[in-house]
Amino acid sequence: MTSNDLPLPMGSTIGILGGGQLGRMLALAAARLGFRTHIYCPDPASPAFDVTPLKTVAAYEDETALQAFAAAVDVVTYEFENVPAHTAEFLAALKPLRPGARALAVSQDRLAEKAFLSLARVPVAPFAAIPDLDILEQALAELGAPAVLKTTRLGYDGKGQRIVANMEDAALAFEVLSPKPLVLEAFVAFECEISVIVARGVDGAIAAYEPSENVHRDHILKTSTVPAGIRGKTAAAAIETAGRIAEALDYVGVLGVEFFVRPNGKLLVNEIAPRVHNSGHWTEAVCITDQFEQHIRAIAGWPLGDPSRMADVVMENLVGDEIELIPAGLGSTIRPHAYGKAEVRRGRKMGHINRVSLKRRAK
Ligand code: AMP
Repeated sequence: MTSNDLPLPMGSTIGILGGGQLGRMLALAAARLGFRTHIYCPDPASPAFDVTPLKTVAAYEDETALQAFAAAVDVVTYEFENVPAHTAEFLAALKPLRPGARALAVSQDRLAEKAFLSLARVPVAPFAAIPDLDILEQALAELGAPAVLKTTRLGYDGKGQRIVANMEDAALAFEVLSPKPLVLEAFVAFECEISVIVARGVDGAIAAYEPSENVHRDHILKTSTVPAGIRGKTAAAAIETAGRIAEALDYVGVLGVEFFVRPNGKLLVNEIAPRVHNSGHWTEAVCITDQFEQHIRAIAGWPLGDPSRMADVVMENLVGDEIELIPAGLGSTIRPHAYGKAEVRRGRKMGHINRVSLKRRAK
């Protein structure tokens, strides 16, 4: 154990890279535990700035600002996985960075992620790296159509990917997505999509939440439902796999693991996110310890909290003008969370609600 592994005392300052809704919810949880937060984000209109006592508005490449930020905080974490590698290394040399740079490197690049998962014996959809059209043609013949062509980096909410039905489609998609590095994945005929939010403490303790069943609309997460409509065996396998991934990364903090469930109940990991996750927002309403508090506990070296669920729940994202549901459309068992974003835009996540059912359904 090093002095860095000791629990941070209340009153310490948690540095958070990124000022979106996830940073905002982390800051709120940190405040509840008696910490101060310092949020670093280049966008002066960041929603997290409303709820943090300390902030820096600067580019992620600004070493002078990064140095001052590091000097002002006791630990550094982040709310998005695309933190530039140099920024992560620079900060990690000055203060504990949790989760570490390895989790970032692995999750920033789909090929690195698939290589890591395969080494850890975690099944993923068959895939091939695509440097040029010839290899694309070969890979499509091998993997079979349809398949999904994706950029290896910086894809989210369905951006940077195309389903391709044949070689003609594939060539068009290649033209649109290249020269970025690409990967072709076999199309998975899944029964449903689930995710597991898992936390690992500084001491290696693991706490996993039950899987949620996730439904997307226009490539954006729409609902997460718990309990998921899957067999107990499948849920247990997903939880075990998520824990194994956290171990293999020597991870500290909360990690989101997304799975495809195949009709035979077998699981494939779609992707991992080294941060609190949209499909874990349900924990806020119905768990003893929610994912935001759990992340702060983990990175502060505190004991993890109990992730047990106390009620059934459906989390629904409010996208674009759906935010107008708040307040008039709220029932008494609906817990709202608005992100305080000034500008409503189509496709922008503006808030979420948790519909809580106090009577637990029999599984
Ligand atoms: P991703 O950005 O990789 O998380 O993909 C976004 C969504 O696209 C996933 O949640 C799935 O609904 C769908 N998707 C991505 N990859 C595949 C695949 N290989 N097979 C089937 N559906 C996929």
